Order: sequence, then structure tokens, then C-alpha cells
Amino acid sequence: MKFQILGTAAAEGWPAVFCHCDACKEARKLGEIRTRSQAIIDENLLIDFPGDTYYHAVSQNIDLSKIETLLITHSHSDHFAPIDLMMKGSCYAYGMVQQKLDIYSNEACKSIFDSTVQYEILPEVQENLRYHIIHPFTEFTAGAYHICSLKAFHAPKEDALLYLIEKEGKTIFYCTDTGWLPEETYAYLQGKHIDLVAYDATFGPKKFGNGHLGIPDAAQVHERLKKLGCIDGSTIGIVTHFSHNCGAKSHADLVNCAEKYGFLTAYDGFTIEI
Ligand SMILES: [Zn+2]
Ligand SMILES: [Zn+2]
Ligand SMILES: [Zn+2]
Repeated sequence: MKFQILGTAAAEGWPAVFCHCDACKEARKLGEIRTRSQAIIDENLLIDFPGDTYYHAVSQNIDLSKIETLLITHSHSDHFAPIDLMMKGSCYAYGMVQQKLDIYSNEACKSIFDSTVQYEILPEVQENLRYHIIHPFTEFTAGAYHICSLKAFHAPKEDALLYLIEKEGKTIFYCTDTGWLPEETYAYLQGKHIDLVAYDATFGPKKFGNGHLGIPDAAQVHERLKKLGCIDGSTIGIVTHFSHNCGAKSHADLVNCAEKYGFLTAYDGFTIEI
């Protein structure tokens, strides 16, 4: 599988939309732009749909019309801003590779979707969007992928989801946004082999765990997964979803911290094959 992280910032972006803190000034100076959270697998499975989706498509040469499956983690705006989904069809989109898009999310995201598009969506576009409401630990097949939604510790008003995505014997664990993983999630994962895991590292070098992780927390989760037999020396660990509040001032600072734990540090456009 080809795994590409299109956006690697927390909700406010880094530099943040309205911010002039030292970390944001440095990011502007170095040109280290982190946009809102999104990833793509093999050019046809998209994870999350933030407002930066259009920018990701044009700046990273992504053909959004090829996407067959869209997995949404939770309703926070850096993961789900559904306005542009109204452009999938009719006079807004000619020559699409895939006419239909299957969207999987929790109920909170579906209700945001409905209220966002209700006055503007064209019926022929609505027909192209096949919406599936799922819960934690829903297993389903989408195209060539076998997927399971896992329970996150995040966004207490809804069922925030993480995803285990398997294809041709390889497995990716998309593990953001979350703090310490719930015991049910560990229980589900026990004995399953993970080839690549992308961790929430909102707090960068700091420790946190309450709804988000820092890099040292991600390392603790990694150790627990190792004990459960999910992870071995061949597993690739990646940290992503960074906040300008994390204490690091640059990508190099984050790399310095992540390397101590054997993690790769994502940047916008980071791509890896497993
Ligand atoms: Zn987020
Ligand atoms: Zn800032
Ligand atoms: Zn969130």
C-alpha cells in the first residue's frame, strides 16, 4: 500500500490561521507549512475531509475523483468540513474517474453533513454520495480493503473513530485523533499484526494523553502494542497531527524527539510504501 499524509497539523494549522507566536513565525520563515489532517492510501481511499482538502488536491497532485472510499475519524473541523463534497457531480465535475463515493463516519459527522449541505446540494450530486453511519468496531469491506473502525479516546460527545485498514496482507493503523487508547481497542488489536501506525502527536515532545498524545505518549502506546503482539521490529511508526503549542519550533525539533523513540516525523506530503 502507498500511504501519503496530506496534512499534518492540528485544528488551527501550523502556522495557525490568526497566530503570531514564535512557533508560527518560525514556520512562516522556514516555509514549513502544516495543513489540516488528511491521508490517502493508494490514490483511492481517503481518510478525513478537512477544509484543506482542495488545497491538498491541487498542491500534491491528488485526483479526488479517483477516491472510492472516504473514512471520517470524527466531526472536528480539522477532520471534516463537508462543503466541497457538494461539488462531486453535475455541472461541477466532468469526467470523474469514479462516479460514486462511499463515505463512512459516525452519526455526529452525518448530522454536520446534512446541516451543511441542506440548502445547496443538487439531487444528482447527493446520489453520488453513498453515506454509511458506523460505530466503533464495525468491520466492513470497501473495494480491496478490509476495514475496522476502532474506538478513540477523543471528542467525548461523539464516537471518535480510528481505523485499521488491511489490504493484501498488509495493515495500517490510523491512530489520530486520540489520547490513551481505550482498553476495548487494545483488546480488539491483540494478536493482529500492524505494518504501519500513524500516531496522534499533537503535543510533540510533551507528555499529555488526555484526548491527544505527545510523542513520548505515542511511544508508550507503541510499547503496549508490542506487548500485545501487534508490533515488531518491522513495524513503521509515524507521528503526525502537530500543534503550534507543542513546544517544538520546527520540523527538525520534532525529528530530534521522534528519532529517540524510533518514529518517523510526518510532514505535508510524506509518502511511504509498505
Ligand atoms: Zn484533529
Ligand atoms: Zn502559533
Ligand atoms: Zn479532534
